[in-house]
Amino acid sequence: MRKIQNLGDNRNKGSCVHCGGPNETRDHAPSVVFLDEPLPPDLPASPSCAACNQGFSNDEAYVACLLECVMVGDANPALVQREKIAALMRGRPKLTAEIAALKRYEDECVVFSFDQKRIENVVLKLARCHVAYEMNEPRIDKPDGIWFQPFSLMAPEALDAFENDQNDVAVWPEVGSRGMHRLLIAEDNAFSEGWLDIQPGRYRFKVTVESGLRVRMVLREYLACEVHWN
Ligand SMILES: [Zn+2]
Repeated sequence: MRKIQNLGDNRNKGSCVHCGGPNETRDHAPSVVFLDEPLPPDLPASPSCAACNQGFSNDEAYVACLLECVMVGDANPALVQREKIAALMRGRPKLTAEIAALKRYEDECVVFSFDQKRIENVVLKLARCHVAYEMNEPRIDKPDGIWFQPFSLMAPEALDAFENDQNDVAVWPEVGSRGMHRLLIAEDNAFSEGWLDIQPGRYRFKVTVESGLRVRMVLREYLACEVHWN
């Protein structure tokens, strides 16, 4: 991945991509809690006000820890695969206990209930960063749709549509935006298959403009997420 200077218009240069407030910090997307070291160079970052940026961090930690716990079926830091998250869980016993309390058995299966709002909050935050950065199209308005689901619970047709949506091949972002530059410098394959793989097995996403503005994200190759604006 390379950092490409944003040559688009000024919509994405001055204000918080989440609320339209002041440009006080840089908000990385994906948030670094979803990635492991070494971090990819030139991680996309968008302007954010301090309140928004700080406001997401608890929910981001919640989602990152919850995902690891669900994947191993236990809220035990010694069992989770990502060492970074194990350390985070050991350092935040309250959060770890909170997630442990979500675990229960259903038909001899381990299931975790979850706080839909907290996950949606993180998914929307990521989507807003991606559309602002990739398409030069900040969207602080409420999206028309937002959902997330583990791959393991998706029907094959839904999975196929999510991964290979045939309608989205003609992605031509606004001239001057970073998305356009990625298309034009395709030798690094950043936009091959439409998916931008930030870190294999950790985070990938795709922005399409075919029918409205649609952001698809995959966390940990486990959770499929989508946000769209008509
Ligand atoms: Zn803000």
